[in-house]
Amino acid sequence: MSDGNPCLDCGMCCVQFRVSFYWGEADDAPDGFVPVALTEKLDPYRRCMTGSNTVPRRCVALEGQPGEQVSCTIYDRRPTPCREFPSHEADGAPNPKCNELRAQIGLPALTPIVPVQAA
Ligand code: SF4
Ligand code: SF4
Repeated sequence: MSDGNPCLDCGMCCVQFRVSFYWGEADDAPDGFVPVALTEKLDPYRRCMTGSNTVPRRCVALEGQPGEQVSCTIYDRRPTPCREFPSHEADGAPNPKCNELRAQIGLPALTPIVPVQAA
């Protein structure tokens, strides 16, 4: 793994799950921020990212090729499920689900992040 963001060569969580969230996160709601044009209505309470509700899944906001190089075109406006699926836990341990997903496309497992010691 490089010392950069490990998600940039992965993207598997963007092509494996239905990315659904409370409708109020979409930007047609007063405090929303997710571009509503990139979403679909699921029910009266929830929307999902377009492309993530049917198999094969691929969130419409994903750019690039999973397993090679990817980016989220709405990174600063991504919905809660994306924000709550980190590559590493707060203690620096890798997210085990990430390593399962990465293994599916032959990417190396994530390693723990060692906290920086204060000088
Ligand atoms: S599956 Fe994990 S490592 Fe891969 S892009 Fe998603 S959060 Fe990052
Ligand atoms: S919004 Fe961005 S981070 Fe979330 S699934 Fe789509 S491409 Fe991935």
